[in-house]
Amino acid sequence: MRHGAGPGGPASLAVFGSTNMDLVATVPTAPALGETVTGREFRTVPGGKGANQAVAAARAGSAVHMIGAVGEDEFAARLRATLGEAGVSTDGLRTAPGFHSGTAHITVDGKGANSIIVIPGANGTLKGIGAGDEDRIAHSDALLLQLETPMEGVVAAALAAHARGVRTVLTPAPTQPLPPELLAATDLLVPNEHEAADLSGRADPYEAAVALLDLVPEVVVTLGARGSVYAARGAEPLTVPAFPVRAVDTTAAGDTFVGALCTAYAEGRPMPEAMAWASAASALAVQRPGASSSMPERAEITAYAE
Ligand code: ATP
Repeated sequence: MRHGAGPGGPASLAVFGSTNMDLVATVPTAPALGETVTGREFRTVPGGKGANQAVAAARAGSAVHMIGAVGEDEFAARLRATLGEAGVSTDGLRTAPGFHSGTAHITVDGKGANSIIVIPGANGTLKGIGAGDEDRIAHSDALLLQLETPMEGVVAAALAAHARGVRTVLTPAPTQPLPPELLAATDLLVPNEHEAADLSGRADPYEAAVALLDLVPEVVVTLGARGSVYAARGAEPLTVPAFPVRAVDTTAAGDTFVGALCTAYAEGRPMPEAMAWASAASALAVQRPGASSSMPERAEITAYAE
């Protein structure tokens, strides 16, 4: 059932999750414990899986409400602006008094290997839904969830959606045990192949997708350059290939995929078609550097998908 703009209108999505500033240092060799090295480059990149999915969905054509938290620091304005420039409503993005915004401290060495420290900051305050969030969720076609914020808040948001008949889409990253009440309120689970293996205990992604149907009614497992697998109770699993492209930066490929997938599906397109369209969106994103800055606009996705 459509809750948002009605048949034919844009999809209306709510995203509950993290906003982070990624602080990226590029170094020839990562420092050992106690060592100081001189790096080559420093960048700040707005991210967080929640914010990335929100931007991806808005670029793909959805009306999006972001529900999250930023801190009282200089990063907050840029995190809000990044969402706002993509057309995401930030009315549900609160400021956590006394906290800094979530940060990810990323060191990338000369071989492209990285090490990351994540400090949740304001994201750690998302232990429930705030005033107005029930309405934001109730008026959406779907609620997108990930696991970079406290589990109790994710569960509260999922239950609020489920109670109102709003579809819930969970990206189970970073991997952790999923409580039964969250699974019971999840309509679609979208793990990557590693998360699918961790959750199901099956290394083979097709077997993993089918095994996960014991937990939730629908599953899409993403397989990077090998595409994605869809499994639903009572139907044969099917595979949708990725577009053969030369990837230069796969950061946020999964978030781009989820934002576009939920947009297309909420518009009423069948799942295989929605997956092909989402594959086009993420194929475009991986061909350019950046996280949310690399995510394509709707017209570009549609032209590429044809
Ligand atoms: P990330 O953590 O980088 O956001 P992920 O592990 O969550 O990514 P992936 O499975 O790597 O997600 O990718 C999601 C989708 O993006 C894939 O199903 C595929 O359609 C597309 N994709 C990813 N990598 C490539 C690639 N190298 N070439 C073409 N398409 C790709």
